[in-house]
Amino acid sequence: MAKIVVVFDFDKTIIDCDSDNWVVDELGFTDLFNQLLPTMPWNSMMDRLMKEIHENGKTIADIEEVLKTVPIHPRIIPAFKSAHALGCDLKIVSDANRFFIETILKHYGLMEYFSGINTNPGYVDEQGRLRISPYHVFINSSHGCTCSLCPPNMCKGLVIKKIQAAVESKTRFIYLGDGNGDFCPSTKLGERDFVMPRKNFPLWDAICKNPTLINAQIQEWCDGEELERVLISLIERINLEETNQFLPMDCKYQNIPMGTHETLPQPLPVPH
Ligand SMILES: [Mg+2]
Ligand SMILES: [Zn+2]
Repeated sequence: MAKIVVVFDFDKTIIDCDSDNWVVDELGFTDLFNQLLPTMPWNSMMDRLMKEIHENGKTIADIEEVLKTVPIHPRIIPAFKSAHALGCDLKIVSDANRFFIETILKHYGLMEYFSGINTNPGYVDEQGRLRISPYHVFINSSHGCTCSLCPPNMCKGLVIKKIQAAVESKTRFIYLGDGNGDFCPSTKLGERDFVMPRKNFPLWDAICKNPTLINAQIQEWCDGEELERVLISLIERINLEETNQFLPMDCKYQNIPMGTHETLPQPLPVPH
């Protein structure tokens, strides 16, 4: 049976907020954030904000405490566990940073469910300050992606291509995301893959505007409950397709339970 790789964005997909904004707001640095935002790239600004936060006496423990309170839908964790139990390989591709993501995953005991976390480096230096750096070094050169929606520090499309190159060609992908940065990787998926854009979020808007750039099948979702339902039904559907592929013609479809087709999520309607 072909392996299924499920790739999750992190902010507003796994957690129900943006982790950068959450930490900045909860520690009381929103005004400084608003001042700095127009002056530098987001990723560089986060590193600068961590310097300010450190100099103002906030510790790594303070950052960890606020990260442990990020909102997360109660069905998200069961969704990971079911997908993992169904044999999927789970990965994260995120423009947040490793420190934030790992702190949250460890808090919920989820590290073991993910085989890879692709994100901006984040580590604590000797002074106890959190350092955040870009996934792709972009000071002297760009990552080369011409997609206007990719930020300078990270092209998730390049990350997906790297993951695709490292697995068997029969591997099927399911990509879940909400943001503009999730559009480029969505365009790299094939017609046997699925993209799950969060409804009424920027990725969903971008797909509605440019449907011809997407080869993958599209299944929208609104919240953690729908994410779980759609994701598990897609995994079951792929597993069934892959199993039936090896059966003789007249056995095909006989073992599909009645009503399966009615319960499948409907494709995203594309407005004209
Ligand atoms: Mg996101
Ligand atoms: Zn890109």
